[in-house]
Amino acid sequence: MFRVLLAYVLLFTLPSVQLAAAQDLQAIARINIDKSRISDRLLGGVSVKLSLSQAVPFRVFTLDEPKRLVVDFKEVDWTLFSDEDLLNTDAVTDIRYGIFRPGWSRMVLDLANPLAVEVIEMKTGANPGGPVTLSILMRNVTSAEFARNAGAPEDDGWAFEVKAPAVASRGRQLGDRPLVVAIDAGHGGIDPGATHQEHEEKQLVLLFAREFKEALILTGRYSAAMTRDQDEFVSLPDRITRARAIGADVFISLHADALAQGTASGTTVYTVSEKASDAAAETLATQHDRSDLLAGVDLSRQDDQVATVLMDMARLETAARSDLLAEMIVAGVAESIGHLRKRPHLSAGFTVLKAPDIPSVLVELGFMSNKRDLNNLLNKKWRAQVIEGLVSALDLWAVEDAAQALLLRK
Ligand SMILES: [Zn+2]
Repeated sequence: MFRVLLAYVLLFTLPSVQLAAAQDLQAIARINIDKSRISDRLLGGVSVKLSLSQAVPFRVFTLDEPKRLVVDFKEVDWTLFSDEDLLNTDAVTDIRYGIFRPGWSRMVLDLANPLAVEVIEMKTGANPGGPVTLSILMRNVTSAEFARNAGAPEDDGWAFEVKAPAVASRGRQLGDRPLVVAIDAGHGGIDPGATHQEHEEKQLVLLFAREFKEALILTGRYSAAMTRDQDEFVSLPDRITRARAIGADVFISLHADALAQGTASGTTVYTVSEKASDAAAETLATQHDRSDLLAGVDLSRQDDQVATVLMDMARLETAARSDLLAEMIVAGVAESIGHLRKRPHLSAGFTVLKAPDIPSVLVELGFMSNKRDLNNLLNKKWRAQVIEGLVSALDLWAVEDAAQALLLRK
């Protein structure tokens, strides 16, 4: 089973691809499908052979839960890629591929069994600058061994991370300027989120995010920006980095997941739980530049303990502000659409909510696995009602939050 996820992205990025092609015709490689195969090895394991029109930088790694083999390439053009006949093994259950970042491509193989990469080589032919074969040989291993080897490599010059310019902190909002709202459309690019029939979560939430942004700006009371405004992959830490780069006062992540049980329905609002926040601090500290952690507080010269304490202080205050926002969103949306599910405000360990200094909530607009929710998400009128509820919640929150900030100052 194959899915072409990124035809849309390819169209979207065509101008830059053409530009690159004009500057350097040799920069973009194509996969020759006739000479490429993914098949079982004779003595067990899997062989991946990809024939490319020319040598390109690449890297290979595995990820766990679910088990995947990831191959990143610089400048591979997928437009003519057809995956018929490529897969000749049951050990790989699905292939996804497409643009991962401008200039970078990713191929993901979903693995049925734990496999370890044994041999990676890129063989050139007689003609330098001509076609090459990337060969990845994998052997069967235990789940424990797979887990030990799995993980994305350290950023060794691949520069996937988008460096955001440091923004001087304007401090907590006091109601004296337009609130800056970071709108985070979940998933994107190679990560479609939940899927149901032809619908993909990444597209539904992007549509909603654009309408939400439009509505906020139209009020004249808000400035709003999106962490992604196209079908691109943005890592979770990058989403926070982007929000911080625009000096966001609040961060609202939008999702529409599917649940296997099929019983979940309705809009739900999440904030990060206390327990998850502690682990989050650790992850954040390792994944971000120190100076990026708390806008306006330079942690790069602090030792780890001081950094942790400063983050804890920021987070305690932020958690209360996030909870207040979540409650107001629940009330605002309930009023605008007339009803909400029973426990509409939950706490969970979402990485995307873990900026220590920006009040953050995650709004599950509905569950794609539920037919009524899916129809709602596809309905412009319903979306407008929810957006109305979100805007009035932000209106109330901005006033209440500013009042509390002034109280804290006394
Ligand atoms: Zn989601």
